[in-house]
Amino acid sequence: MIDTITTSQEAIALEEKFGAHNYHPLPVVLSKGEGVFLWDVEGKRYFDFLSAYSAVNQGHCHPRIIQALIDQAKELTLTSRAFYNDKLGVAEKFVCELFGYEKALFMNSGAEANETAIKLARKWGYTKKGIPENQAVIVAVKKNFHGRTTTIISASTDPSSQKGFGPFMPGFEIVDYDHVAALEKALANPNVCGLWIEPIQGEAGVYVPQEGYLKAGEKLCKQHNVLLMMDEIQTGIARTGKMLASSHENVRPDLLILGKALSGGVLPISLVLADDEIMLVIKPGEHGSTFGGNPLAAAVVVEAMRVVEEEKLAENAERLGKVFRNRMTAFMQKSTMVKLVRGKGLLNAIVINDTPDSETAWNICLKFAEYGLLAKPTHGNIIRLAPPLVITEEQIHECCDIIEKSILEIAK
Ligand code: PLP
Repeated sequence: MIDTITTSQEAIALEEKFGAHNYHPLPVVLSKGEGVFLWDVEGKRYFDFLSAYSAVNQGHCHPRIIQALIDQAKELTLTSRAFYNDKLGVAEKFVCELFGYEKALFMNSGAEANETAIKLARKWGYTKKGIPENQAVIVAVKKNFHGRTTTIISASTDPSSQKGFGPFMPGFEIVDYDHVAALEKALANPNVCGLWIEPIQGEAGVYVPQEGYLKAGEKLCKQHNVLLMMDEIQTGIARTGKMLASSHENVRPDLLILGKALSGGVLPISLVLADDEIMLVIKPGEHGSTFGGNPLAAAVVVEAMRVVEEEKLAENAERLGKVFRNRMTAFMQKSTMVKLVRGKGLLNAIVINDTPDSETAWNICLKFAEYGLLAKPTHGNIIRLAPPLVITEEQIHECCDIIEKSILEIAK
């Protein structure tokens, strides 16, 4: 029986044999992380340029967050919400004040937070907007990614999310992203209770909408009495150079959906924030989760958010994002292989000049790994580049050197 892994091959073979094949990982087996670095079981060091899909904005195993985890773990970890605990209220107050809302509802995964937002929007639609029972519509956009539950994938336009998993949940209308006229038309339907969007589409390949799109969406929501449901699970918590990506356009969502970096990658913690008029439509017994709002998560979230603020991670992301895009844009002039560089803060992507179903982006990521940097293609020929926000300018340049060298070698 194998219970200690000593080589990458052993770990990969075990996962292949005993794990479900629901991911296609790069062949790298990681056993340690610290700040911007990861190490594999053979001791090779890598720069992390994925940050667990932006869950590790504060860097791996941040000592303050780990300390908060350990301290709380020794006291109390889970009570369920059948009782009060002495940490949840503190965390709720903290996040309400930090993000400027009246109420907070903690869940665990990002998908669960989106499910929560869907339920809130629908219930608000029936009880406040007067939509006839069971006729509420949520407007979502093409190429969205909000998670993997059967309800959420009902609004997906990605065949790999949907194919084979029907029947789907009704009540979604899908419109083009970054298209104000499409929103104008869809939101005019009096049965629409919510507009559900990501301020930048992360999983789709870091699509940044034109400036003014989010503001126009907010205005249309107000005009038609529709809730703006903003999924900031990947873009939030300083990733794009502000605490929230919506703030780049001074947009305040009615339902703010957060996850991932709420815990700095330590625990699954997600959250929906809203004002009383919306949050209080859900009554006791109508929604919940055994682990949601547990004292361990509550202690971790407060410390993880303090780290983001005190270490000025939004400012770092804003400044170094510009350094990174300047380097990559200059490189684009030299390399015919990079077609486009786009992003905000430290959520960026390069688009490879090849067809979406080619192997080139994957091979580039293998080359990055060889030179000590980890990234993964998202959707074929797009590579997302999103390091922990604790990265330094010197490290950004070192990583750009690796990225450029790798692409030039693959292009040969
Ligand atoms: N929403 C967005 C924008 C995401 O990027 C993700 C995950 O990548 C999710 C929701 C789903 O989060 P989770 O995997 O924690 O369910």
